[in-house]
Amino acid sequence: GPEYVRAIAPYQAGKPISEVAREFGLDEASIVKLASNENPLGMPESAKQAMLAEMKEIGRYPDANGFQLKAAVSEKYGVPQDWITLGNGSNDILEIAAHAFVQPNQSVVYAEYSFAVYALATQAVGARAIVVPAKDFGHDLQAMTKAIQPDTRLVFIANPNNPTGTFLPAAELEAFLKQVPPNVVVVLDEAYNEYLDPSLQYDSIAWVRQYPNLLVSRTMSKAYGLAGLRVGFGIAQPQLTDLLNRIRQPFNVNSLAQAAAVAALNDTAFLRKSAELNRSGYRQLTRAFEVMGLEYVPSFGNFVLVRVGQDDGAGARVNLALLKQGIIVRPVGAYGLPQWLRISIGLPEENEAFLAALKRTLG
Ligand code: PMP
Repeated sequence: GPEYVRAIAPYQAGKPISEVAREFGLDEASIVKLASNENPLGMPESAKQAMLAEMKEIGRYPDANGFQLKAAVSEKYGVPQDWITLGNGSNDILEIAAHAFVQPNQSVVYAEYSFAVYALATQAVGARAIVVPAKDFGHDLQAMTKAIQPDTRLVFIANPNNPTGTFLPAAELEAFLKQVPPNVVVVLDEAYNEYLDPSLQYDSIAWVRQYPNLLVSRTMSKAYGLAGLRVGFGIAQPQLTDLLNRIRQPFNVNSLAQAAAVAALNDTAFLRKSAELNRSGYRQLTRAFEVMGLEYVPSFGNFVLVRVGQDDGAGARVNLALLKQGIIVRPVGAYGLPQWLRISIGLPEENEAFLAALKRTLG
C-alpha cells in the first residue's frame, strides 16, 4: 500500500465498558463511561419508536438518497435538499470532503489540539497536514489564514472544538471566511453546536449561502443522542454538495438510522433537556475542580478538559487509577496534552462517581 497509509496512527476511541470490565475484573453495571462525549440520556424515546417501526422494512435497502431525512434537515435549516449530504456519522462527512477536494501532495490546514479525524482524513488522501499552533487551547484564526498555501485545498475548523471545548465567536469566524481564498474549502465542524448558550448562537447557514466554499458539518451523535446509529450531515451550496455526493457511498446511512434521525431532529423537547442537563453537569464538575484547585479549560461542549498533574505522566497515571475504579474518561496525550484528561459530562450521579474517584486518586 501507499507509504502515507502505512504512516497513519490509528484512531484511539474511548474504551468500551465491556473491555474495561474484563480487564479490571469489574461488574459492567458499576462502570461509568465519560469518555466519548455521548449523550448521558441515551437516545430519545421518539427516535427509538421510529427505529422500531422501521424494523419491518429491514430486508430492504435504505433510501440511497435519504429523502425523508433530507426533508427533515431541509425543513429545520431552511436549505433545499440539494444542499445536503448525509453521512455515516459526521466523521464520514469529514472524510468525504477530504476525498472530494484534496489530492495527494496538496495540503490541509487544521489547528493543534483539534479533532483527531482531521489528521486521519488528511493522511488518508496522502495530503500534507499544516498544523497551526493553538492559541489559549483554541484555534488561532489569524495564524490559520496565514498558514494557507497555494496548494491548500481544505481547512478544518471545529466550533466548539474537541478536545479543548473552546469557542470562536461569530465575528471572528466571519472575518476568517472573508479571507480564505475561494478555491479552499472550509469545513466548519459544528458537532457541539446544540450545546451553545442561545446568546452565543450564530447563523452559519447564512454564511453557507454567502460562501460557495463553506461546508457546515453537523452530527446527531451528541445532543441528539444517536451516536451508535451513526448519522451526520453536511450543508453546502449545490456545486460542493454534488461533488460530495459523488464520493459518498450510496447506502452510507442505514434505514434504522434514517428513521431515528428524522424523529430526533423534530424532538426539540429532548434537545432542550440534553442542553440543560449538560449545563448543570458542567457547573457540577467545574465547581468541584475549583474546590480541588484543578485547572480546567472553560468548555462550550459536553465535556471538559482538566489538568490532573504537572508532569507528562499525569494524564496516563490518573487515567489508569480511574479505570481501576470503574471510571472511563479520555486521556489526551495523543493530542499533545499529556497532563490533562477530557471528561464527558454525564448524569449528576455519574459526574459524582467520577469526582469521588478523582478525589481518591489525587488524595
Ligand atoms: N467532529 C467533532 C469535533 C467531534 O468531536 C466528533 C465526535 N467525537 C465528530 C466530529 C464526529 O462524530 P460523529 O462521527 O459521531 O458524528
